[in-house]
Amino acid sequence: MEYGTGAIMAVPAHDERDYAFAKAFDLPIRRVIEGDNPDGDADGLPYTGDGLLVNSAPQFDGQPNREALNAIVVWLENEGKGKLAVNYRLRDWLISRQRYWGCPIPIVRCPQCGIVPVPNDQLPVMLPVIEDYAPQGQSPLAAATDWVNTECPNCGGPAERETDTMDTFVDSSWYFLRYCDASNSEAAWDPAILREWMPVDQYIGGVEHAILHLLYARFFCKALADLGHLDVDEPFARLFTQGMITRDGAKMSKSRGNVVSPKAIVDRYGADSARAYILFIGAPDQDADWSDEGVEGVHRFLSRLWRLSAELADQDVAAGEQGDEAANLELTRKANWAIEKVTGDMDRRFAFNTAIAAVMELINEVSRLRNSAGLGAQRFALETASSLCFPFAPHVTTDAYFLLTGERLWEQPWPTADAAMLERDTYELVCQVNGKLRDRVEVASDASKEELEAAAMAAPNVQVHLEGREPKKVIVVPGKLVNIVVG
Ligand SMILES: [Zn+2]
Repeated sequence: MEYGTGAIMAVPAHDERDYAFAKAFDLPIRRVIEGDNPDGDADGLPYTGDGLLVNSAPQFDGQPNREALNAIVVWLENEGKGKLAVNYRLRDWLISRQRYWGCPIPIVRCPQCGIVPVPNDQLPVMLPVIEDYAPQGQSPLAAATDWVNTECPNCGGPAERETDTMDTFVDSSWYFLRYCDASNSEAAWDPAILREWMPVDQYIGGVEHAILHLLYARFFCKALADLGHLDVDEPFARLFTQGMITRDGAKMSKSRGNVVSPKAIVDRYGADSARAYILFIGAPDQDADWSDEGVEGVHRFLSRLWRLSAELADQDVAAGEQGDEAANLELTRKANWAIEKVTGDMDRRFAFNTAIAAVMELINEVSRLRNSAGLGAQRFALETASSLCFPFAPHVTTDAYFLLTGERLWEQPWPTADAAMLERDTYELVCQVNGKLRDRVEVASDASKEELEAAAMAAPNVQVHLEGREPKKVIVVPGKLVNIVVG
């Protein structure tokens, strides 16, 4: 059995997790599109861009993947094994509503000309002011006879306006296009401006958007692109679906009475603790359970960050203790590690929870090294902690930073790590069984051969492949790998 990774169409760059199943069960991962490096990446993962087919049936090898797609379908049809089908989940959708609140449909009905679109120079059609918004078997707009009775744009004779309005899904399908050019009074947008801004770099929303709103929005954009009004036909470059916060495992709802009121939390702990806790509660793409103790913990952490800063601000750093050199280096390294970690977690994965945890670690180090590190190193670590926590807890960090430096934190650049301070004191040891990669473990750079062997033997996936057998021979290459040979 082979785990298919035949990425015939280009898909966004994969990450390791996509192949967790194949790796866990040791299934071969076959590369079927030749990438820039024909031998494959060092990690053995498939190429997901466009390219020439390899390792496929001989008649398809060497074809560009998108051409091969059609050729493969034709082959399957000739073999009687399958046929081309187009799948879609876009359901029938009625956009007109008998409601007041909605965009008027710009159509006029003329007894002579039939259905006539309102010409461009009369757009947009504005809602009339009315007294009674309740529908009475027809749209509330029908009662606004002054508005309904109009002139046919085509023949100039008496005509009536359409009284239904558009469903709100229409608005949510293209608002992001209008946002790019919101003050344009001549047209919905200037194509040159949209060329600059579209597509939306990042879409964030709940999973409930996936089946309706996102399909409609994409449908609109594809239709607008086909009509020549838009240069992109995919509106959102990246989608992130956040998880739901539950309480005691249950969805929060008024009827269950288990809703956590943000106001109560803000009143008790302040907005910083409330916000930081919500971001700290778990990986943002996963559901997480609310915990009152958790808010308390984050509140204590922020209080400690502020208190340490306030205490240090009262001391004369220049004239103060220079501290122990090793402790200074340790703390400065930790601060640089935190910069690197927080920046990466936020940029690449929205992993605010692990970012906040890194700043917590830094603050723990400040506490631990308080009596050995110099005031300068402590000040750098605390300034860094405030800068890194600013997006999550802007009030308390701004205050702490001002106490330390007299500067406004929001005017400062995002900190950058000093590469020289990022020297890794660990590395990833490749663990092999009979010459095959079975696991990787993090080991200390100065670990002895015995320690490396022990670390490799203890690796979970090495254990699985040893199946209880005693090693015949163990080859240790420090800085690289351990190969365990069994019979
Ligand atoms: Zn007419």
